[in-house]
Amino acid sequence: MMFDAKNLTVIFTVAKEDEHFLDDKLANFSDYPIVISRTIGLGKARRECIDKVSTEYVLVLDLDNVLPDQYIEDAIMIMKADTKIAVIALDYEECIGHYGFGTSLWKGEMLKKLYDYQDYKGELCECCYLYRKVLQNKYKIETLPYRAIHNKGSN
Ligand SMILES: [Zn+2]
Repeated sequence: MMFDAKNLTVIFTVAKEDEHFLDDKLANFSDYPIVISRTIGLGKARRECIDKVSTEYVLVLDLDNVLPDQYIEDAIMIMKADTKIAVIALDYEECIGHYGFGTSLWKGEMLKKLYDYQDYKGELCECCYLYRKVLQNKYKIETLPYRAIHNKGSN
């Protein structure tokens, strides 16, 4: 499938301890529009990035995560087949027991509408919070038969 990279923005929230991953990621995703935030507080930083996106699709990728090569094309193919799908997400090679948010590909308009995570202390993590919202809003979550790699970083 030919996919136009201009239709997908990659967003990176950069915590100080993950800064050293950034150059590699910028090189890997040089075909795509990229939005970066260094704002303190994960929820705020994500929201700042999301507000700047105007593409049909958004890839949320934490700097310490690595995605399988075919992930973007596969994810978009699935999304095009079902308009109710808001997000395609993966768990990690070392399972965390749910899909990560920092390895997720979204329909831009749905992410803009749903994202309001605010670093609630002691409550749900960002991933569980957002995926619950997706389902509450009657959208669908999908996944693919492979996992992301989580290098040791802040998240
Ligand atoms: Zn989580």
